[in-house]
Amino acid sequence: MPCSRDDAEALDRSDPLAATRHRFALPPSQIYLDGNSLGPLSRASADAVDRTVREDWGEQLIGSWNSAGWVDLPRHVGRRIAPLIGAGAEDVIATDSTSINLFKLLDAALAIRPDRPVILTETGNFPTDLYITDAVASNHGAARVRRVAAAELPDAIDDSVAVLVLSHVNYRTGARHDMAKVNARARAAGALVLWDLAHSAGAVALDLEATATDLAIGCGYKFLNGGPGAPAFLYVSPALQRLLRNPIAGWFGHAAPFEFGDHYQPAAGIDRWQVGTPSILGLASLHAALEVWDSVDLQMVEAKSAQLFDIVMTWLDGPLASHGFELLTPRQPARRGSQISLRHPQAWPICQALIADGVIGDFRTPDVLRFGLTPLYHRHVDIHDACERLTTIMETGRWRDPAFRTLNRVT
Ligand SMILES: *Cc1c(COP(=O)(O)O)cnc(C)c1O
Repeated sequence: MPCSRDDAEALDRSDPLAATRHRFALPPSQIYLDGNSLGPLSRASADAVDRTVREDWGEQLIGSWNSAGWVDLPRHVGRRIAPLIGAGAEDVIATDSTSINLFKLLDAALAIRPDRPVILTETGNFPTDLYITDAVASNHGAARVRRVAAAELPDAIDDSVAVLVLSHVNYRTGARHDMAKVNARARAAGALVLWDLAHSAGAVALDLEATATDLAIGCGYKFLNGGPGAPAFLYVSPALQRLLRNPIAGWFGHAAPFEFGDHYQPAAGIDRWQVGTPSILGLASLHAALEVWDSVDLQMVEAKSAQLFDIVMTWLDGPLASHGFELLTPRQPARRGSQISLRHPQAWPICQALIADGVIGDFRTPDVLRFGLTPLYHRHVDIHDACERLTTIMETGRWRDPAFRTLNRVT
């Protein structure tokens, strides 16, 4: 039996996270299941960006670097992200994009493992992670990339490996690695691990310190809701901070940028990972979007995410069972992030038909439907209604409408 609307409403009435939904400006006609790709607008972000533009930029102009604290924003945002990932407050900075942060940290990590030729990563990793890993290897003479399937990773970690580059939660399937286990195995082999937390931060409970994580990067605009192209973040363990050097020696990573010296001297702590002038509008938005986490605990978020997932499963095992969907996401909560991915040969037109019905998920080539589960603003009834609409689309065959076949540039 699929979860009924009454049952979903009852779960909403006892939901400890029910109140956080009102902090977001959600379009009333949509059920938004794409917060894993672009988080929605929070009211706090809208206000902060407006204030930053009109007052700080519009009235105070350049004085705002000091008076509005712009120059400290990358660190302030880092301090707000730190508790979400179990990091020390001074060990995280918000800067650049996830891609650029990956480049910087991987290049730096390889440089301190000069005798080891291998960067180990996973097949099916996010494209930017694969491309940048290849590019960094080609810049380091003897280095080469080894890509293996997740199941083969433990055996592939040996003393030839300099660095592992892994996405903690896989963007396509939602499968989650056991971070503590991988870190321990890598440490025993003398390898470093660089985790991409793009689909983990704000989605699952993380503890970078307790898991003895070396390096991590993550995204500001997915589960952290910073807005399109909001800055990413970067973590370096305290033990590595003095050893690693930023390969992009920009002036904002300098120990004293406003002395305008002719020679680069890296800042002492996490500040050395900045490159150029920070993107203040994106940071202001992200900083405000992170306020919601003051009152929210990630264990609660994970528990509600599991409930939302279970609602979808009642439909997949019930009315949707005969419609050809294959579950790609692990059923065990600890083995997944906060999404549900389904494989279907007609994934693209089904996704378009859903969007036409106000259910916004996304499609990942060639045949994957992906739905982000975001407990901060999803009600249980939203998930119920989305499943009901999907069932109608499948039962009526509405996805066959030729209008749902055209491809967009961004999917
Ligand atoms: C979304 C995502 C990125 C995005 O990188 P950008 O530089 O922000 O475009 C990187 N890695 C993973 C695993 C992602 O899911």
